[in-house]
Amino acid sequence: MSFHPLCTIFAIFTKILRLFIDMFYDNGLRFQCQMCRYCCSSEPGYVYLSDKEIEEEADYLGLSREEFIRKYCRYVDCGEYSLISLQETSDYDCIFLTEKGCGIYKVRPYQCRQYPFWKSIMSSKEAWENEKNYCPGIGKGPIIPKREIEKRMKDGDPPLMVFRKK
Ligand code: SF4
Ligand code: SF4
Repeated sequence: MSFHPLCTIFAIFTKILRLFIDMFYDNGLRFQCQMCRYCCSSEPGYVYLSDKEIEEEADYLGLSREEFIRKYCRYVDCGEYSLISLQETSDYDCIFLTEKGCGIYKVRPYQCRQYPFWKSIMSSKEAWENEKNYCPGIGKGPIIPKREIEKRMKDGDPPLMVFRKK
């Protein structure tokens, strides 16, 4: 597993830029999950996993890494490499979604913990506002301070995706 040096340079550049540019979330943003389950179901998508997450989730379920991948994951072809994602059902529910919510909540992937504070959504006020069409928790509840928002964005950064070369 490795990261392209340009990714690191871009991450540093973005970090420095944020020190000088006003971000639309400087005063925090309101968000409180309404438990609608939309982000765990409803439409096709991917929940990408890192090595660490695979280990943690397999361990939590008492499985070996190989068993976990075989039972719950799929490879997503990205050209020169493949990423590993959780499987989904024919109804596009995440394979771990249950009547009571996430079946692996304690060890749920970073991608799930971070939502809706994904970099793509936090890239502009428009993207954040647009995400309200999918997530009814946006704009509700207490204000999440900028510091916490950036911590959540950083938790999965760099995205330690697993891949195998073809
Ligand atoms: S879409 Fe938003 S409100 Fe609904 S479960 Fe996901 S985070 Fe919570
Ligand atoms: S792992 Fe849990 S939180 Fe993440 S998409 Fe699946 S059910 Fe939802």
